[in-house]
Amino acid sequence: MAKLFYNYIGGNWIPAVSGETFENINPSNINEILGLFPRSNKQDVDMAVSAAQKAFRDWKDTPPPERAEILFEAARLLIANKEQLANVILKENGKTFSACLGEVQSAIDMANFMAGEGRRMYGKTTHSGLRKRFAMTKRFPIGVVGIILPFNFPLALTAWRVFPALICGNTVVLKSDENSPETPVHFVKILEQAGLPKGVLNLVHGFGLDVGESMTKHPGISMISFTGSSVTGSLVASNCAKRHAKVSLELGGKNAVIVMDDADLDLAVDGVICGAFSVSGQRCTATSRVIIHKNVYDVFIEKMLSRVSNLKIGPADDESSDVTPLINKKQLDRILAFIDKAKQQGCRILFGGSQLRGGLYDRGYYIQPTIIDQVTPDMEIAQEEIFGPVLIVFKVSSYDEAIKIHNFSQYGLSASLFTRDVNKAFSFFDDAEAGVCYVNAPTFGSEPHMPFGGVKKSGQGYREVGWAAIETYSELKTIYVDY
Ligand code: NAD
Repeated sequence: MAKLFYNYIGGNWIPAVSGETFENINPSNINEILGLFPRSNKQDVDMAVSAAQKAFRDWKDTPPPERAEILFEAARLLIANKEQLANVILKENGKTFSACLGEVQSAIDMANFMAGEGRRMYGKTTHSGLRKRFAMTKRFPIGVVGIILPFNFPLALTAWRVFPALICGNTVVLKSDENSPETPVHFVKILEQAGLPKGVLNLVHGFGLDVGESMTKHPGISMISFTGSSVTGSLVASNCAKRHAKVSLELGGKNAVIVMDDADLDLAVDGVICGAFSVSGQRCTATSRVIIHKNVYDVFIEKMLSRVSNLKIGPADDESSDVTPLINKKQLDRILAFIDKAKQQGCRILFGGSQLRGGLYDRGYYIQPTIIDQVTPDMEIAQEEIFGPVLIVFKVSSYDEAIKIHNFSQYGLSASLFTRDVNKAFSFFDDAEAGVCYVNAPTFGSEPHMPFGGVKKSGQGYREVGWAAIETYSELKTIYVDY
């Protein structure tokens, strides 16, 4: 019998009101049920919101440096449980152990950084236009924050959203993703052990249409932080707009690397291969387009094909796997449908393009790293986020043409340019329609103190992570004192 997991509401571990459960499956061995999780609904959300509202009364007045002590303790506990947590992520998320360790480290870094923010949370003082008047701003918590997570980074994303929300004095209702629900359980247990008061953080498991939608419509939730696909993001935003709730959206991407003819080609190939195929492309900042200058096109393609043919595709528990399984069959079918349609439209499969079968590949959903050329920028394969190990190739004659193709996208999350020309690099920061820009580096990789977020369909203005997250998870109050 698979292990039974619970919701965490008001400091108690309890089953869903419905009594129903759903299965959590190991993507590297789909015959293994890792656990049974509560299939919650609106009633469970109601209970979690009530608990969070009650806890808010005291947590909002707890001085930020005191809140910070709990986050510092959480960081210490995350360090002490690093390997155990990495193994939980590996099992339910299908990433290699080293990738999972990186995810835990990122949660540790965020706990420490946000704890430090507890002593910084700056407002401003300024001169009033009136005599004998003092003018200042101060940051206040928003209230109950609902955090809705995707499957792909179940610990890092939980930490990146929950820690800033807590340090700002909000209480939280957290919805785990139905494809990776166990990691947030361990995260919550760490905060419980670190001394977080009951009701400040509540965890509700379940599906988007039951739990997620109830959260976005709940009048007791003052802000929603949503990370997931752009399609779901617009449903979330519209429910929040109807009741004027604040909403922070971190959505999908169609991120591109531009390779100029003066680039270090080996460095660029490494960046593109890693960005496109690690974690099977299931990363919001995955490289899904590479735009190559014609003068280096043939050499770049040759180097890239030689690298990709040596990638090892395998399960998460084999540390030598470069490309790991997809999260589920739905994703596999979706990705294969994109590839089929591209073929029908006359695109050429330069590498891969198929599902892998036989032996250990029958225990999960594996797709070959796939490279496609002869694509026009308006085709579906060049426009839609695939969220799999699929890379589209374009050949261009100039930097201006590269930027035109780069910006011909509904998305604008991350962008990268490989060049040795510092002038081009700085022009790129002006020209690229993206929230995060890299030069001579892959399209992913973020630091705890630096803001993160996208433009166009990749986000809607607020920034998560770094100092900017404090602005996102707090309200600024303007205060005048006449003396
Ligand atoms: P998804 O949109 O399918 O699901 C995300 C979450 O939303 C899940 O918890 C799901 O249960 C919930 N949900 C589904 N329907 C809902 C509804 N109607 N109302 C409220 N909640 C609902 O996304 P996914 O497949 O889990 O994750 C992949 C997507 O997430 C990709 O598009 C990826 O780019 C994006 N992502 C973005 C970032 C970022 O920071 N920009 C980070 C990671 C992932």
